[in-house]
Amino acid sequence: SGGPDNMTPEVWEKVKNHPCYSEEAHHHYARMHVAVAPACNIQCNYCNRKYDCANESRPGVVSEKLTPEQAAKKVLAVASTIPQMTVLGIAGPGDPLANPDKTFKTFELIAKTAPDIKLCLSTNGLALPDHVDTIQSFNVDHVTITINMVDPEVGQHIYPWIYYQKKRWTGIDAARILTERQMQGLEMLTARGILCKVNSVMIPGINDKHLVEVNRAVKSRGAFLHNIMPLISAPEHGTVFGLNGQRGPTAQELKALQDSCEGEMNMMRHCRQCRADAVGLLGEDRSAEFTTDKIDAME
Ligand code: SF4
Ligand code: SF4
Repeated sequence: SGGPDNMTPEVWEKVKNHPCYSEEAHHHYARMHVAVAPACNIQCNYCNRKYDCANESRPGVVSEKLTPEQAAKKVLAVASTIPQMTVLGIAGPGDPLANPDKTFKTFELIAKTAPDIKLCLSTNGLALPDHVDTIQSFNVDHVTITINMVDPEVGQHIYPWIYYQKKRWTGIDAARILTERQMQGLEMLTARGILCKVNSVMIPGINDKHLVEVNRAVKSRGAFLHNIMPLISAPEHGTVFGLNGQRGPTAQELKALQDSCEGEMNMMRHCRQCRADAVGLLGEDRSAEFTTDKIDAME
């Protein structure tokens, strides 16, 4: 098995050792997330702020929040215990770019102490255009943007508000700003040769039909991979969708949508929606071995 058939050789060269993108590599290379980014600048109806962001993390999981210094220390501790550790991601528990100081301080410390580790981050995209230069300056390997719509009419049912330019926006206006910023950020990154993956959350009756259009829009802007994830609707977690009785898609509905997008571009089918402080090989979670108290005790 290799990477998705229709990846260009250049893209494949970049991602073949990446546990999240290569079916092969995820058995041999490990990744970790550090949860340094608590705040968020938008509200998604599938989010409960007590838990990890669904941008790139499993909703309904609480990750241990770290300072950039604690995070850097943890990365070193993990790298010395798990030699296959090749990728460090920042994916929450909020939005990494709504916490730019913490996110980039963490990258700076790791670039100094462990320069071989590849960096990645995930974001809802709202603040992305403002940070593309900094992302490039840290040699960030790839960025994941969560894009659930390209039509504000659809977006207004997913996002009750965004916080942008010191102001709270709601309804169609909020969704319009968000989609413009996401598309702009995606174009800026791919123009600089930074790999972009797009995550979408499939929400039956809200954006399920529309995601084929999202797939086209992100492909035409150079995203190299599209990862459609199921809404995990959990009333006990108190998300707006959960309380509304909004259901998630069935496995068949998800597969049918992924199949209908497949002709268009590479689809990712093995994302595990790891927690924001995941550690280890994909499908394995060794985060409990690397809590702050245990790392402190290693010294
Ligand atoms: Fe929650 Fe993430 Fe959405 Fe922010 S971007 S509201 S943290 S799911
Ligand atoms: Fe990889 Fe998905 Fe886990 Fe991120 S959330 S590390 S992309 S499998």
